[in-house]
Amino acid sequence: MELELKKLNLQKEEKRPLVLAGPCSAESLEQVLTTAHKLKDSGINIFRAGVWKPRTKPGSFEGHGDKALPWLKQVKEETGMLIATEVATPEHVDAALKAGVDIFWIGARTTANPFAVQAIANSLRGIDIPVLVKNPINPDLELWIGALERLNGEGIKRLGVIHRGFSSYDHKIYRYEPMWQIPIELKRRIKDLPIICDPSHMGGKRELIAPISQQAMDLGMDGLIIESHCNPDNAWSDSSQQITPETLDYILSTLVIRNEPQSTENISLLRHQIDDIDNQIIEELAKRMRICREIGVYKKEHDMTIVHNDRYSEIIDKRGEQGSKLGVDQDCIKNIFGLIHQESVRQQYEIINKNEKDNKENKDKQE
Ligand code: PEP
Ligand code: MN
Repeated sequence: MELELKKLNLQKEEKRPLVLAGPCSAESLEQVLTTAHKLKDSGINIFRAGVWKPRTKPGSFEGHGDKALPWLKQVKEETGMLIATEVATPEHVDAALKAGVDIFWIGARTTANPFAVQAIANSLRGIDIPVLVKNPINPDLELWIGALERLNGEGIKRLGVIHRGFSSYDHKIYRYEPMWQIPIELKRRIKDLPIICDPSHMGGKRELIAPISQQAMDLGMDGLIIESHCNPDNAWSDSSQQITPETLDYILSTLVIRNEPQSTENISLLRHQIDDIDNQIIEELAKRMRICREIGVYKKEHDMTIVHNDRYSEIIDKRGEQGSKLGVDQDCIKNIFGLIHQESVRQQYEIINKNEKDNKENKDKQE
């Protein structure tokens, strides 16, 4: 389904980055006002704060709910900032609209649930409000796009997305893996969709906010949503990833914003070279598969199993090491060879099953 989008229209000029900042949760009137005034003084115009907090486990702070909405309203009245909060149900939508919330976002856990997204979309029918859809917690681009289609289907046109990283079993550096290829593919498929990066949830640590923000800008993302709190160490939620408005101001001042598509001759020459190399990679891959199929025939004739774990480990380790010597990340090479191996196995299965099928058909004919 083709999306019909309108600009978010959240700031006068279309300058990059669009910045939303504020605490993970609205904790008290004093906390939101102090934080908001400091942010406003450093030039931030959009205030974020969670009112309803979906937490992984019960028992942690789940937000003040409706009680916090007047606090956000007061931020808006005192500072003139736009206010943004997360909504997860039609009741949240209703209450937040009444309180004058200007921007909604849909949280990662909610985006993963089509029933919840549809219910929110239905409750927004006929209302012109910007909605930012966070990526689902699992790396599923179709589910993310599906959420956008549900909202767009009910007439919401001021849509954007927030890339906040994806849950993965073995996270190492990041709290949520960036998997940049997913938002990049999203941008390729839906050209006019603004993408905002959330380095706070992605990194989970204060020191990762600057490098992730820079990376997002280098990849051409449109904005940043960053958790900022007047007293981060005592925050009631996500304390280790929140920064003071002063630190935020410093980080933003160090960001290098490069301009969008450069189509100089140099780049197009280099792109030609890349195209040639990609072409070679695919041809070589096809050759490799041909040989794998021959091995498949051999395995069939000699009654061997398809997967040989020692051989698989040898390939992954050897190529990973080789890659890292040549300046390509070892894990990246391992992932690529994991996929190549998966396709080789699939092709060998096909050969073996085809032979089985042929034998069975011949036998049936003889009988
Ligand atoms: C948030 O932005 O405070 C939040 C809960 O984020 P996410 O849905 O990305 O976990
Ligand atoms: Mn948070």
